[in-house]
Amino acid sequence: MPAVYPPKYVRNILVTLQSRGHQAFLVGGCTRDMLMGRMPQDWDISTSALPEQVMEIFPNSEPTGLKHGTVTVKVNSHSAEVTTFRSEGSYSDHRHPDMVSFVGDLTTDLSRRDFTMNAIAFSPDGLMADPFNGVSDIEKHLIRAVGLPRLRFEEDALRMFRAVRFSARLDFDIEPETLEAIRLKAPLAVNIAPERIREEIEKTLLSPAPEKVFMLIELGLMDSFLTCRPALINDGGCLRKLPKKALNRWTCFCVLLESCGCIDSIEEFLLKLRLDKRSIKVCRSAARMLMEPDCPNTPVEWKRLLNKYGVDTVSCAAVCGDCLREGCYQKQLKAVLKSGECFSLKHLAVTGNDLAEIGLCGKELGEMLLFLLDYVMEFPQFNKRELLLSLAQGTEE
Ligand code: ATP
Ligand code: MG
Repeated sequence: MPAVYPPKYVRNILVTLQSRGHQAFLVGGCTRDMLMGRMPQDWDISTSALPEQVMEIFPNSEPTGLKHGTVTVKVNSHSAEVTTFRSEGSYSDHRHPDMVSFVGDLTTDLSRRDFTMNAIAFSPDGLMADPFNGVSDIEKHLIRAVGLPRLRFEEDALRMFRAVRFSARLDFDIEPETLEAIRLKAPLAVNIAPERIREEIEKTLLSPAPEKVFMLIELGLMDSFLTCRPALINDGGCLRKLPKKALNRWTCFCVLLESCGCIDSIEEFLLKLRLDKRSIKVCRSAARMLMEPDCPNTPVEWKRLLNKYGVDTVSCAAVCGDCLREGCYQKQLKAVLKSGECFSLKHLAVTGNDLAEIGLCGKELGEMLLFLLDYVMEFPQFNKRELLLSLAQGTEE
């Protein structure tokens, strides 16, 4: 029996569908989570009602995935996805079904689902349907494909990434036959949109066992993004120590990949995975800082880095540096930032206009600003307008 129960609005949706003569069940991740005593992130309902019927019963609903039979039913600030029982046709692109058809029975709907733990249903009366023995697999902490694993991964190659991601999130093992099928079918990963792969990697990186991203590599699922599979897989233990922030974890992952020689360029790797431009910039620069043989040690060195890379990048590098090298970078950086000392032209006590007024212009003016900035990074007590102007005029005492 579940250890967590659905909220009232979800029960109301189920009961309303039932009272209109339709079958309705809680399905997918929420039943798995309920059985495991975890609060589900979202509530999925499967029903025999057709999408138009669902929309008629619940006027406050949106056809969010009509092609697949999904309607989002809204209740005040909450919502639940209601999907018509369906079966899927062939999968010629190894990712999407060529067609879906609505069917009348729950078991057919459950049989299209990826893993046994995700193919359990609860009726509004709390009765359970578990045709693939998902409960037993949950008890054994096992991720097992529904049906023949090879066929299921051939149909949709993304399921292989989902297996690793769930294994990292739930601390489950992948059942041996399912694991073997992943190894065999890993080359089909080339059929998946890189954005979807990136999402799965990121979810794995942000899970309680982020080091399992290396399982993706070891299984061959990331071959098209790497120059080689490393002979010695890093245990990725440091990833776990990082705060659960995507940028920190991507940066550390990239540094580990680069140091074991399986990517040539962090930028190229992240571009291929369609990471957004800002994140790529921060990861690439933070990783570059971390690759430097000399670590920043003095406030002036930190300020030069802050000036060159910006606060976000240096902060990311400091967090990763503490985990990768067991340093105390964050402490040093925090002290520098707290001191309020100048490390950018924005905080310099003179502006370009001030220098123009004393007769400087063009390249000379630009160079003087940089000289003064460098000077106050070294001697923060001299970040004073009059003093810097006299320095610029060459009339300082
Ligand atoms: P999460 O807690 O991450 O949302 P979830 O199991 O709910 O996990 P979803 O991606 O929300 O995962 O999908 C809901 C359900 O739909 C799954 O539990 C599974 O039954 C089914 N499903 C999702 N993606 C696939 C897929 N690629 N192949 C087969 N079934 C899938
Ligand atoms: Mg879900």
